[in-house]
Amino acid sequence: MYRGSLKRRRAKGREATYRYRIKHRDRYLQLGRAYGRRRKPRLKIYRNKLKSIVLDKYGGKCACCGDTHYEFLCIDHVKGGGNKHRREVLKSCSHGHALYRWIIRNNFPRIFRILCANCNQAIGIHGYCPHQKVENPEIVNT
Ligand SMILES: [Zn+2]
Ligand SMILES: [Zn+2]
Repeated sequence: MYRGSLKRRRAKGREATYRYRIKHRDRYLQLGRAYGRRRKPRLKIYRNKLKSIVLDKYGGKCACCGDTHYEFLCIDHVKGGGNKHRREVLKSCSHGHALYRWIIRNNFPRIFRILCANCNQAIGIHGYCPHQKVENPEIVNT
């Protein structure tokens, strides 16, 4: 008898919480979003830190034109097929810093180099960089 009523009271309590959540659903969602916003700057700092570690290890400048502007630099897969490798490395994870983390964990394999945004895009689209065409054509085909 006593147990039964306790059980019922508990069930009622759960139901009340559930109803409360449904009723204030928007507020809960908003709280979740606010939390996400607060986390973002920290994630950015973390990502930048990973990036600078990786860039430093690979020489800290564009392998093509020698640009050292951190903001322009990115990791390039030397033998091409970067997207395929990236997919293999990242699997379900879509965050950019996962690649940096993978590189650090795998002790900076030599299959990567640093390119600035210009050279990277030129090579990606045209298969060569105009810098190399004039000065040093062999680097593009490495
Ligand atoms: Zn460059
Ligand atoms: Zn270039």
